[in-house]
Amino acid sequence: MFSWNDSQKLLMETVSHFAKTELASLAHQIDEEEGFNDSALRKMGELGLLGVTAEEKFGGAGLGCVEATLVMEKLAEHCASTTLSYLAHSILCVNNLNENASEIQKTQYLPGLIQGAQLGGMGMTEPEAGSDSLGMRAKAVKKGDRYFLNGTKTFITNGPVADVFVVYAKTGSGRKDISTFIVEKNFRGFKVGKRLHKLGMRGSPTSELILENCEVPECNRIGGENESVQHMMRNLNIERITISGISLGVASAALNYSVRYAKERQQFGKPIADFQMIQEKIAEMATSLDAGRALTYSMALEFDRGNREDLSLGGRAKLFTAQMATRICLEAVQILGGYGYTKEYPVERYLRDAKLMEIGAGTNEIMRILIARKLLTA
Ligand SMILES: Cc1cc2nc3c(=O)[nH]c(=O)nc-3n(C[C@H](O)[C@H](O)[C@H](O)COP(=O)(O)OP(=O)(O)OC[C@H]3O[C@@H](n4cnc5c(N)ncnc54)[C@H](O)[C@@H]3O)c2cc1C
Repeated sequence: MFSWNDSQKLLMETVSHFAKTELASLAHQIDEEEGFNDSALRKMGELGLLGVTAEEKFGGAGLGCVEATLVMEKLAEHCASTTLSYLAHSILCVNNLNENASEIQKTQYLPGLIQGAQLGGMGMTEPEAGSDSLGMRAKAVKKGDRYFLNGTKTFITNGPVADVFVVYAKTGSGRKDISTFIVEKNFRGFKVGKRLHKLGMRGSPTSELILENCEVPECNRIGGENESVQHMMRNLNIERITISGISLGVASAALNYSVRYAKERQQFGKPIADFQMIQEKIAEMATSLDAGRALTYSMALEFDRGNREDLSLGGRAKLFTAQMATRICLEAVQILGGYGYTKEYPVERYLRDAKLMEIGAGTNEIMRILIARKLLTA
């Protein structure tokens, strides 16, 4: 559909091969056991994927949103959970540092994160502040040359396994008085809280982060005090476009499985693929996947062309692809009949994983608000 250039084609082939060999065989097990494919995630460092958008001088690949999204899609065809953890590391943490941190901060943190020696995460959401992220309550108070952070973050991808977090906290009384801090897991006052047990994406560990007078050196504040809203929103925009790649990958896996199954499963003396109602499902699934791809990669291209502030880009891509992926996975379960409803086959996992994309990185409802706001206030 797209005329990818040679290096994009090579990237897709390399990531696909890696995902088939390193992710596919463990995808079911880490879902069942709420495990984590730690070694595969770290190995992505050797392929240059952990800093896919980061500057080359820090070890990154220096690629754009299009390539980052291609990586997500190819990984998620084989394991959405590990891809979600990869997204939290490479986009929520590494890309954020690459875009917004000082040279000194980048020199200190990026090489280790990009090699896979350290894993990253990002803490924005709180128990009382999800969609209303500016309503966060975590506070950072400066005393001498350090900040003391107090509050609880929740739903943090990689919470139980990451070493370095980009954490947002209030440094003033206004809604937009938000600052960003680089918090290491062994800083005094930092604790990993309750681990969350989820419907899907069970191979991507999620937890609370507890900040109790957590001591953060002043030099770990990213940018000026109370100046973080803009870069928080910009990073959410690239997160929403790239997470659409996960929806594409899961939907593509569900479609491929359905096609294979429909050709093999015999009922009434013929493959169910011969029945027009099954053909209709497959045709609808393929068409909406194509539409999702076309939308996502045009939004990614637009982002790479410099239109980074328009939050409706990520909103449109994520809203469409998240709903598309859930629908396609539901149809895949239907095509597999009773078998689709069992854990003997992967499509029920695809469905549980796909649903996350309608909630994480901003819900469908919030995406609609962003898109409508853009149109109605233009
Ligand atoms: C698996 C997983 C991983 C995550 N990873 C991270 C992470 O790494 N870091 C991080 O900071 N956060 C993370 N999140 C948090 C995620 O971004 C939030 O869950 C999401 O933004 C929704 O917030 P909430 O869950 O508090 O829902 P709420 O905001 O309480 O929303 C509840 C319902 O109300 C609706 N609603 C809310 N406001 C409005 C409105 N104005 N108009 C219409 N409807 C509205 C919502 O759409 C939703 O349907 C993760 C979440 C999950 C589930």
